[in-house]
Amino acid sequence: MRNSKSPLVLVDFDGTITQNDVGARLFDAFSKKESQKFVSLWLKGEINSKVCLERLCDLIKITKSELKKFALSQKIDEKFLDFVDLCKRERLRLVILSDGLDFYIKLIFKKFGLEKLPFYSNILRFEGDKLKPEFPYFDRGCGNCGNCKKYHLKNLKSENQKTVYIGDGLSDKCVVRESDIVFAKNDLRKFCLKEDIKHYPFSDFGDVIQTFDDLILNQK
Ligand SMILES: [Mg+2]
Ligand SMILES: [Zn+2]
Repeated sequence: MRNSKSPLVLVDFDGTITQNDVGARLFDAFSKKESQKFVSLWLKGEINSKVCLERLCDLIKITKSELKKFALSQKIDEKFLDFVDLCKRERLRLVILSDGLDFYIKLIFKKFGLEKLPFYSNILRFEGDKLKPEFPYFDRGCGNCGNCKKYHLKNLKSENQKTVYIGDGLSDKCVVRESDIVFAKNDLRKFCLKEDIKHYPFSDFGDVIQTFDDLILNQK
């Protein structure tokens, strides 16, 4: 039974559910690496992720069917499917938060039978072979993220509900400060170490499942 003790589980998409950062790979591949100058400006904090994504979209030409093909070639962490089952079995509310684009998230979820998973992300529209990103949550966020995950955490959690966040990158910076339990890998782990944010390191969802068994499910 879902009860007040059941935490809200929030998971990043790019590089966490997928093995690689699909957005980064996409812009890298189709801009012949020209995308990297904008990504490094974002990493240095000189532009926000909304501006970064707008610049990246301006940089490339790609048709819907090319983008579809690219998205469907991406691999996920297959253990994530077991994690989704675990959340279902334990009646934990699982929501995906992404500062990437809905178009490829939907395709990848559908490919793996995950189309019912709720997610919040930026939106991608096409004008011919040009990409037009939209940012429906930007105004409700911190001003630095296209889709600030901290806003969604606050919006989704019920009073006194604990939150778990699982992620890998710098688009997770805002949300991990507000989460009760953090699972971090790669750049997010470095950030957590630097900022002294308590976290569980993981390399794939097999590790997360193991820790969930010990930490959360035994306490219910
Ligand atoms: Mg990520
Ligand atoms: Zn933010």
